[in-house]
Amino acid sequence: MGKPTGFLEYQREKAKERKPLFRLQDWKEYQLPLTETKLKQQGARCMDCGTPFCHTGIKLNGTDSGCPLYNLIPEWNDWVYRGQWKEALKRLLKTNNFPEFTGRVCPAPCEGACTVAIHDEAVAIKSIEQAIIEKGFLEGWIVPEPPYKRTGKKVAIVGSGPAGLACADQLNKAGHLVTVYERADRIGGLLMYGIPNMKLDKKLVERRIQLLQQEGIIFITNTEIGRDISLEQLKKEHHAVILCAGAQKQRELQIHGRELSGIELAMDYLTDSTKALLDSRQPKISAEGKNVIVIGGGDTGADCVATALRQKCKSVVQFGKHPRLPDTRTKDNPWPEYPYVFTLDYAYEEAAAKFGKDPRQFCIATKKMVGDKNGQVKELHTIQMEKISDVNGHYTFKEILGTEKVWPAQLVLIAIGFEGTDETLLKHSGLEHTNLKVKAEYGKYQTNLEGVFVAGDMRRGQSLIVWAIHEGREAARECDRYLMGYTNLP
Ligand SMILES: Cc1cc2nc3c(=O)[nH]c(=O)nc-3n(C[C@H](O)[C@H](O)[C@H](O)COP(=O)(O)OP(=O)(O)OC[C@H]3O[C@@H](n4cnc5c(N)ncnc54)[C@H](O)[C@@H]3O)c2cc1C
Ligand code: SF4
Repeated sequence: MGKPTGFLEYQREKAKERKPLFRLQDWKEYQLPLTETKLKQQGARCMDCGTPFCHTGIKLNGTDSGCPLYNLIPEWNDWVYRGQWKEALKRLLKTNNFPEFTGRVCPAPCEGACTVAIHDEAVAIKSIEQAIIEKGFLEGWIVPEPPYKRTGKKVAIVGSGPAGLACADQLNKAGHLVTVYERADRIGGLLMYGIPNMKLDKKLVERRIQLLQQEGIIFITNTEIGRDISLEQLKKEHHAVILCAGAQKQRELQIHGRELSGIELAMDYLTDSTKALLDSRQPKISAEGKNVIVIGGGDTGADCVATALRQKCKSVVQFGKHPRLPDTRTKDNPWPEYPYVFTLDYAYEEAAAKFGKDPRQFCIATKKMVGDKNGQVKELHTIQMEKISDVNGHYTFKEILGTEKVWPAQLVLIAIGFEGTDETLLKHSGLEHTNLKVKAEYGKYQTNLEGVFVAGDMRRGQSLIVWAIHEGREAARECDRYLMGYTNLP
């Protein structure tokens, strides 16, 4: 255990953030690392509580509780407190292939389950995780480690998001020859095109890809399975196939005026913005000088807000269907469940600094979109809603008459979620699926097709990076067992 009295002596301190108005001038990461002294203090706050809920990833009451990767958090907290960073790194890499991603963008269900959080604020676990891996890269402890021996088995992975990359890393370690097929022009899935640069610098994604390449993994971009190469052909050329193609088919808004120009799907907007940045060109969809409305109250919508601000929009508002979350946990959301409480995400802090108020509008519904004579959107008509819950936890929304409002808008971004995986791959593949999620039992990952496995968002629906890594690792283990008759993968 770190320092027995650490949790009494030190307060929680998490990664510092650059000042909102300052960081809006560029696309660099908004978070800054903690100093080594502060990190040691956070390590010292860990109580080594005997039953570490933080690393016991389970579903509780439908919420994530603890780390889905079962990261050995109390162990690395202790090593960091003692200044033994290399030991901490060894523990971290036992369970997490890419801590540089989770250490930046994971919503940290581990912290919601931290025992210190029963009476005080949680240990800054995520900041410690990020610091350990960055120290590893900085000190040159992370070097390519190709496998000693190859098994002669060939595996194809479809999709290069966190699930595909984790799967490839594990199978390569087991000695199989892995080829990753990606339809986009760059590797990384939503790590590359989706999550904006200010949350996760694309150089960090490229750094990891380079390492995986040096270890022997082959990456093929601009190749869509189901269109450029059939799944059947891929199966013939490999001993096994693992599908990690995500769930990027976006949900559409069926509403009067949807056909107007100036109305875009969030992912098209975010992808174009990152592509423009990486290719040093102007974005094709720009918020510059426009009144922007984001429809959808989730994290994708928040990333649209932050992107529009950097493109120098005139104003930005985000519409959400649900009411504002409470400031503290409610009775039906106790520790160690994931806390559903109101937070000021980076995007909202930036909007408030720029325009003097939080951009979020709660319990609001868009009734129609109206255009000008050229077919360009000019305004949105809305109404406030009331959420009515019954004793069984079911709820409905009721319009509140007299709350109709008209909002000016020249750019509308639709961010109301994802339906599932794209149909191109599913069509004619013979894969069984429901609601665009490919069927495979959790823990087994075997589809109805012999030698074809599935992992990540493509199996579970749009989720989190930490779950994608978890499923990628487990699917690799099951694929290894299928190929070899046994497995040593965790
Ligand atoms: C805007 C946005 C922000 C997010 N922010 C966060 C966050 O902050 N924290 C967090 O934990 N999670 C976040 N998420 C969710 C997280 O990114 C996903 O859950 C995770 O990336 C899923 O990983 P995956 O590997 O299953 O799929 P993906 O990352 O979606 O990767 C799938 C890949 O497969 C490729 N592909 C698809 N079909 C084919 C085909 N037929 N042939 C070849 N390639 C194909 C796609 O191009 C893509 O590269 C965010 C999601 C979005 C949309
Ligand atoms: S991966 Fe996420 S849940 Fe796990 S330790 Fe890191 S921040 Fe916590």
